[in-house]
Amino acid sequence: MSYGRNDKLPEQGKIKFFIIPYFPLLMSSPPFPTLFSPVRVGAHVLKNRAIMGSMHLRLETMDRPLQRQAMFYAERARHGVALMVTGGFSPNVEGLLEKDGPLLATPEQTATLRGITEAVHAEGGRMLLQILHAGRYARIPSPVAPSVISSRINHSIPRELTEAEIETTIEDFVRCAELAALAGFDGVEVMGSEGYLLNQFTVTRTNQRTDAWGGSVENRHRLPVEIVRRMRERLGVGFLIMFRISAIDLVEEGADAHEVAQLARAVEAAGADILNVGIGWHEARIPTIAFVVPRAAWRFAAARLKRVVSIPVVASNRINTPDVAEALLASGDADLVSMARPFLADPAFIHKAEHGRADEINTCIACNQACLDYIFSDRPATCLVNPRAGHELTFAEIKPSAGRRRIAVVGAGVAGLACAVTASEQGHCVTLFEAAETIGGQINYARQVPGKQEFNELLRYYRRRLEVLGVALRLGEKPDAARLVAGKFDRIVIATGVRPRVPDIPGITHASVVSYPEVFSGRVIPGQRVVVMGAGGIGFDMAEFLCHQPNDAQIAQGSIEQFQNTWGVDTSPDAHGGLKAAALAQPFRQVTLVQRKPDKPGRTLGLTTGWALKASLQRYGVEMLAGCHYERIDDAGLHLTVNGKAQVLAADTIVLCTGQETERSLFAALCALGVTPDLIGGADEAAELDALRAIDQGMRCALQI
Ligand code: NAP
Ligand code: SF4
Repeated sequence: MSYGRNDKLPEQGKIKFFIIPYFPLLMSSPPFPTLFSPVRVGAHVLKNRAIMGSMHLRLETMDRPLQRQAMFYAERARHGVALMVTGGFSPNVEGLLEKDGPLLATPEQTATLRGITEAVHAEGGRMLLQILHAGRYARIPSPVAPSVISSRINHSIPRELTEAEIETTIEDFVRCAELAALAGFDGVEVMGSEGYLLNQFTVTRTNQRTDAWGGSVENRHRLPVEIVRRMRERLGVGFLIMFRISAIDLVEEGADAHEVAQLARAVEAAGADILNVGIGWHEARIPTIAFVVPRAAWRFAAARLKRVVSIPVVASNRINTPDVAEALLASGDADLVSMARPFLADPAFIHKAEHGRADEINTCIACNQACLDYIFSDRPATCLVNPRAGHELTFAEIKPSAGRRRIAVVGAGVAGLACAVTASEQGHCVTLFEAAETIGGQINYARQVPGKQEFNELLRYYRRRLEVLGVALRLGEKPDAARLVAGKFDRIVIATGVRPRVPDIPGITHASVVSYPEVFSGRVIPGQRVVVMGAGGIGFDMAEFLCHQPNDAQIAQGSIEQFQNTWGVDTSPDAHGGLKAAALAQPFRQVTLVQRKPDKPGRTLGLTTGWALKASLQRYGVEMLAGCHYERIDDAGLHLTVNGKAQVLAADTIVLCTGQETERSLFAALCALGVTPDLIGGADEAAELDALRAIDQGMRCALQI
């Protein structure tokens, strides 16, 4: 049976989707009633409204790729994710994201994929294959595009597709969907957003064609619509087709909301079962998923689409807790939620939420450090808060081991926490000592930084895990070596962290000089003119912190309106690309950031988040000086030479963010008593220490016990 572009599929016009009444077995109401209500999508009924969105994980580049991917996806399906989407597969070689990237163009390539779909189906899950043609974003020689216009994130000048090639591309998409069906997928997601090929066709920014594929809105929409129409025609009603639409492009000459609505209606009419909401092109200069974006910041874009189509709409981006998902779904702004990184952070997210254990979820803190930053530097993805992610083959689900040993962990920074929790999960009896009155170590500073409130979740997670596992937490205790030896522990792990480095500069003891812990902890309130010495991650965080009003309530609450004004997001339907001029920023203090290296400050920041941190400081007018030689500090301020030129930076306060040194005195004392403890985290290696390395090392240390 074939359908014309405007034909309705049988039943679709009537049922599209409906909520099946939910009758809980128990009389008490379920914790997240909307999230856990079934929903019909196309010919399928999903058991809940959580989708694991597409992520390119690079697991296929690791050893035993099939087993690895099968385990990764099956674990998430076992824990209740209703529908999962693979990373992007190109339908042909021109659409590859990069040389040797995932491709599905021949029947032979379906064999490995079948192993993954079978593993997911065995756990009661469903799975879609994402079809992604990179267009001018392809990092291959001679990429193709609607028009000869290169992108600011891929400088290869693309070649314009001929009309015959467009026809072939449509067939390649449909063929790819057929192969996905052969590989056992329940359907496909057609990637029409984030600035990839189909998105490039939809807007004049990248499509300046004068043939049937450019010019009018209908012509610009023709390629994605035709792909969906032919897919539906060839694959039948049982095959799920999700279309990921660019709900807001966030680039100049992008679509306005009227055009987006028109495309949404057209792909619905062409046969799409679900509309997934994509946010922003990859070349957009507005962060869309990083921690600086408030939770559920893009719900308005999903809500806008829900008003114009009758198929289910999926909200995405910065939905990382069941409360946020439930609130969004219950409000009617979307029918389903797509979470990707949250399932890296915790494969059991859904299971825990459903069984009243939401406070035990290991929450994605939107740092991008071990997922996107790894992927963009050609490394397989994992997760800062969950180093098992992507390594399920190496680290099986942690279970109590045969022997129960007595373990002392000294230091409840994230290295010590990860070690204590993992050791306890293995069944050991763990005592965790912490000199401070609270757990978290350096994380307690990070969470003070505007936009980094998600770090609170990491501490909430560990606090709860310690409770649930029954770890003996000794806050405010700093055991000495003799006490630890007397305690007759089978194993002692030292995670005593770091001390801030105090550089050897004349005048360093001047009253204006303070350390970053003193400022973040509130023990010192800096003056109006501040020099931040050291432009690493902490220097940037400090500069951001100083530019804001103390306890900025809007930031603390994650105000979406403030985010939109700060970054220039226009939600009015006529705004092309959803852009407006960003609001001028008034810094609370005058801040100067200095470093000795001649490189541009910020080079060591995260690949996918550093640009946003730099943009934020630029907006506040923070001066950044590189190539500095510090001469001395006195009442006049910091005397320095910058590229050989002497100057004085007047400063009320100089904040040292000049790195750290290991704190190993307890380790040394134990060694002197003939004990050889394990050494982890900053105490082991202070240079470039971050939470990612600390948690990973803490977990690995515990697994070796
Ligand atoms: P860092 O990144 O190593 O930066 C230390 C800074 O101090 C550098 O700018 C260094 O630059 C300067 N410095 C080092 N020794 C000095 C000396 N003797 N005298 C004067 N300046 C000196 O360390 P961090 O900023 O403390 O951050 C610690 C870790 O946390 C890093 O791994 C960092 O990546 C991570 N972190 C990351 C983020 C983020 O990416 N958003 C945020 C916070 C922390 P010069 O030598 O050029 O002056
Ligand atoms: Fe989330 Fe960070 Fe883990 Fe990525 S690395 S999944 S952003 S917590």
